[in-house]
Amino acid sequence: MIRQYSLARDGERRLAPDFKVRELRCRDGSDTVMVDDALMLLLQCIREHFGKAVTITSGYRTAAHNAAVGGAKSSQHLLGRAADIRVQGVSVEDVAAYAESLMPDWGGVGRYPMKAGRATGWVHVDTRADKARWRG
Ligand SMILES: [Zn+2]
Repeated sequence: MIRQYSLARDGERRLAPDFKVRELRCRDGSDTVMVDDALMLLLQCIREHFGKAVTITSGYRTAAHNAAVGGAKSSQHLLGRAADIRVQGVSVEDVAAYAESLMPDWGGVGRYPMKAGRATGWVHVDTRADKARWRG
């Protein structure tokens, strides 16, 4: 279920043992934060599997912010169903492979490995009903 929060009111509220509402906020400073419960289950599983901090570099995005960062028009970030993450000390490949093992027949997993012009890699995960895999 996708829920709506207020950054001002709910920012410190825990959505899962290791994640607070503010970690999913849109980086344009908007107060509205949309988050899918299933996404938080997924992120908490990843956190516990690796036993390392999970940094969310992009969670919910407003339409304006999504356009500003060059996101896809129908991005799952717009729905609160997606997060771009890094796991401390764990490779993009290992994070992506574990996320795929949790969603064998559904969900989105995108690999964004470190490359020239990209200082750090990340993995996009989302809770869409159909299955999508890609490399960016
Ligand atoms: Zn993403």
